[in-house]
Amino acid sequence: MANTANDTNFFTDVCKNFDDAAQFTGHPEGLLSQIKACNSVYRFQFPIRRGNGFEVIDAWRVEHSHHMSPTKGGIRYSEMVNEDEVMALAALMTYKCAIVNVPFGGAKGGIKITPKNYTTGELENITRRYTTELIKKNFIGPGIDVPAPDYGSGEREMSWIADTYMTMNPGQLDALGCVTGKPIALHGIRGRKEATGRGVAYAIRECVRVTEDMQKIGLTAGLGDKRVIVQGLGNVGYHSAKFLTEFGATIVGLCEYEGAIYNANGLNVDEVFAHRKLTGSILGFPGATEFKNSMEGLEQPCDILVPAALENQITVENIKNIKAKIIAEGANGPCTPEAEDIFTQMGGIIIPDMYCNAGGVTVSYFEWLKNLSHVAFGRMEKRYAENSNANLINTLESLTGQSIPSEHRLMIIKGASELELVNSGLEDTMIHSYHEIRETLLSKPGIQTLRTAAFVGSIDKIAVSYMNLGIWP
Ligand code: GLU
Repeated sequence: MANTANDTNFFTDVCKNFDDAAQFTGHPEGLLSQIKACNSVYRFQFPIRRGNGFEVIDAWRVEHSHHMSPTKGGIRYSEMVNEDEVMALAALMTYKCAIVNVPFGGAKGGIKITPKNYTTGELENITRRYTTELIKKNFIGPGIDVPAPDYGSGEREMSWIADTYMTMNPGQLDALGCVTGKPIALHGIRGRKEATGRGVAYAIRECVRVTEDMQKIGLTAGLGDKRVIVQGLGNVGYHSAKFLTEFGATIVGLCEYEGAIYNANGLNVDEVFAHRKLTGSILGFPGATEFKNSMEGLEQPCDILVPAALENQITVENIKNIKAKIIAEGANGPCTPEAEDIFTQMGGIIIPDMYCNAGGVTVSYFEWLKNLSHVAFGRMEKRYAENSNANLINTLESLTGQSIPSEHRLMIIKGASELELVNSGLEDTMIHSYHEIRETLLSKPGIQTLRTAAFVGSIDKIAVSYMNLGIWP
């Protein structure tokens, strides 16, 4: 994969996208500057004991916008993390939350390490110390700033964060809402792990559902005949590929660090995943053409490309070689603004990151609500719904003298589980937001891309919040 972050101006790119959209909003310049700026940038270093000595770790937490509280965003564990990247990702979180109507400001964290070079004990030390630093500076709390997983972190790290926070805030009733993406056993929520990938699949499904938009780019509506290449087999890439397959698409290409594989007849994502686990590489997967240079994988024939790894993967260098008609940004910032301009001229559609990968934070919001309410979704009403549906069926059966076959009966009376409610909330969010963005695109002459339309929608909502807060006249 192309190297990133340190040699780019990711925050500048986000601001450029913001500026392109701001001209369509009509808000005063000062308000736009306030929305765009990163409110608080906390850069810190702390030592950990390693071997016979110490190592100093670089870390960040950036709160981009406080127009809503708490602020929200993941913590990235990566050697490539830098301040510019964390600022850009924090800003994207603000716009992302706004576009999917999740009532948070944006934030992001970064710890500059390569997790695989550290033991579990060292990672725990680093995570707990990072959390302690956030607590000391009031950069974490269920009503302040709520971290979550991101590239290089997951449920395990979130448990350490929750435990550290609870230890240092004994008796705080809502303490578990200080972080999301926790394991179920620690009051996480079902469906959070798959949420970003599931959301990406919903976003693509919604985009290709619109017949007139598909006709314009020479595709038919629906996922049934769509060939997809996914970059990244991490949490987001794997689940995007899995749900896209479930929705009827064919995964023809997969790209990872070590190379890429392609099979026009389709790849079984779980088999590739298992092969990689066994051999340490996706290369050598039976029946697939392979490319040692992973970036070549992106340029193979397909209808939809899902970059779900890191930022800055699709640039002026390779955009002209991309065969896909639709790029769905599973990762944050995979396409540079210059590449997007060229792709738009080529007649392609980019489903922008701030909407496309918003499934994760949407379900994080549900988890936070669950933690604040101290009750799992569906707990109160599941059985009640089942009983009342059964009463209805029984009444109908006795009035009509007909009986409903048992498999239909079970399907009709069933009350919703937590997972079903989460997935339903996520699906509704992704469908609704797609059409909101598309409406903006159609209603404002001059807007060329879904990204600009999404930014316009977000900026408008954030501006309204500032005005409602009385911060802006
Ligand atoms: N890290 C994820 C993102 O970039 C999730 C953030 C969250 O759940 O707060 O959207």
